[in-house]
Amino acid sequence: MSIQKSDATKYIHTGNGEFCYKMNKSLTVPETFPIYLSSAYIFNAIEPIDKICEDVSEDGIPTYGYFRLGNPNADAVSEILAAGDGAEKGLVFASGMAAITTSILAVVKPGDHIIASPIIYGETYAFFKHELRRWGVETTFVDFSTQDVADYIRPNTTLIYGETIANPMMSVPNMEYLTNIAHANNALLFIDNTFATSIIAKPIKYGVDLVLYSATKYLGGHDDLVGGAVVGSKELIKKISYYLGLYGSNLGATESWLLARSLRTLPLRVKKMSDNALILAKFFETHPKVEKVYYPGLESSLNKAAADNQFEGNGYGGMLSVNFNGGMAEINKLIKNLKIVRFVPTLAGVGTTLTYPPRASHRDLNKEELTAIGITMGQIRISVGLEEIEDILKDFEQALAKF
Ligand SMILES: *Cc1c(COP(=O)(O)O)cnc(C)c1O
Repeated sequence: MSIQKSDATKYIHTGNGEFCYKMNKSLTVPETFPIYLSSAYIFNAIEPIDKICEDVSEDGIPTYGYFRLGNPNADAVSEILAAGDGAEKGLVFASGMAAITTSILAVVKPGDHIIASPIIYGETYAFFKHELRRWGVETTFVDFSTQDVADYIRPNTTLIYGETIANPMMSVPNMEYLTNIAHANNALLFIDNTFATSIIAKPIKYGVDLVLYSATKYLGGHDDLVGGAVVGSKELIKKISYYLGLYGSNLGATESWLLARSLRTLPLRVKKMSDNALILAKFFETHPKVEKVYYPGLESSLNKAAADNQFEGNGYGGMLSVNFNGGMAEINKLIKNLKIVRFVPTLAGVGTTLTYPPRASHRDLNKEELTAIGITMGQIRISVGLEEIEDILKDFEQALAKF
């Protein structure tokens, strides 16, 4: 006897996820991985739920049950990320900060000690300085380029944290050295590779335990998605994945899909931006209104040797900072006079943008802290885009002529 279906039942029970059973038998599959906007999965019996809860996959068959705990789009994009970095596994998050905070909380406990560079992303700094302290985890800030991390290690040091190209002075740490010190103390080394990307540097090669990303920046690359990612060993990723589920810091399906699409052009974008950035850095270096340029690709950079030793040979990245002779009034004039380059408080989109570290990314630092790092009131940070660099040079030339 057939069950009569009412309109309501038909609208609910046709064309839903069970259609995928037909797709699995189809002679063809979609060329591009589709977006799976499904918050949960159908079980045809009770037994599969045990396998899924214990995360036992047979022959790589995925075990999906509930979106937050794992889903096809997150897995697809994580696979691309892990491959690019040469890591065993990857994981994606709702933002860069979700990736950073969730991963750190997965590996520290009250009473632990962390060593972090003070030259890091503003909110990461705040997380170490204020939030982790609230949970009984103390952080010592050690400048990797002027101080020796080994001098600050304690028996309870469980994590060392830095960035490959550190914001905004573009300093480059010696990753192999940091790994050796961390591992000799049974500590982990986490490196935020957002400014470099795997195209410029592959920290996994140097024994770094976890590589972290704000996918909002180069990985996304079009100023239209917010996301985060980490890559590392299967074991560490599994541990972090538990906390991702617990805190609910997962990336949505649409954002995962957008991120996967963006990654297809990451090598092209980063190489072109790097080439452009070197030309722009050299232009500023000889400009009479410039006091100092921070870019690891310049011969004058204190970080050039570290970059040459550890980078992949695809240039030095698309980020540079420039200290002009002058203060806020001059920078304001510069911003108003630029015709192509816009003031946007993010980085790594397709177009060249600038920001003002003393009032944007580093606004919470006091005058002494700013001076200690080398940030002046005449500093701008530039994210170099994919334009023809001649146009950008002309734009800066005309704007600086009026300053
Ligand atoms: C932007 C950024 C973050 C934070 O990422 P969100 O996606 O904004 O949460 C962390 N580290 C670095 C180096 C960044 O540039």
